[in-house]
Amino acid sequence: MRIILFGPPGAGKGTQARLLESNRGLEQIATGNIIRSAMKNETPVGLEAKSYVEKGDLVPDKVVRKLAENAIADRDYDDFILDGYPRTTQQAEWLTEFEEANDAPIHACISLQVPDDVIVDRLSKRRVHKETGKTYHLDHDPPPADVDSDMVVQRDDDKPATVRNRLNVYREETEPLEDYYDRRGLLVKIDGTGSIDDVHHRINNVLDDLA
Ligand code: AMP
Repeated sequence: MRIILFGPPGAGKGTQARLLESNRGLEQIATGNIIRSAMKNETPVGLEAKSYVEKGDLVPDKVVRKLAENAIADRDYDDFILDGYPRTTQQAEWLTEFEEANDAPIHACISLQVPDDVIVDRLSKRRVHKETGKTYHLDHDPPPADVDSDMVVQRDDDKPATVRNRLNVYREETEPLEDYYDRRGLLVKIDGTGSIDDVHHRINNVLDDLA
């Protein structure tokens, strides 16, 4: 199955993609994670992406296109969840071409609907483990006492000014893709509020209907 998990930053795409990975065998392809790893390793892509990511802007389309297409090809074009790709009309059009060229159509674009105030709360209180990438929420899912607190940090782009920019970028450049996938008959909107389990359950129901 080939799924796009769609929604604003902080909608819970990463959390839900990791759950679907362990429960349904769908592999998470998260361009944000690929980019952060490239930045950490100071690869040419990482060095090019750095200034965009730090400001909360989108990395140029052509850079991200290659990362996403290579990751999909690595998974033999099947059983994946795209998390954070596509994010612009250009990326969506390239992805459609890529689906056609590889006979690998996307089955659904599941869009998590979350109001801005919930997003700002989630992102400002989100913390991430430097090594495992596991995310926590200071109120709802705090790091356990046996986790070294020095290893749990706030992502630079989760700081308030950058969060506001990321949300603006989402509304202007990414949200219009809902119409693009609606026109293709692939859009499924889901309530992204409530507990992690509630949202997982809603997504599972959609995937069961598709199977
Ligand atoms: P994320 O972890 O998905 O929030 O992504 C973190 C950052 O990586 C974003 O704010 C962008 O700067 C960059 N990024 C991730 N995916 C894309 C994409 N599909 N297009 C452009 N930039 C991206």
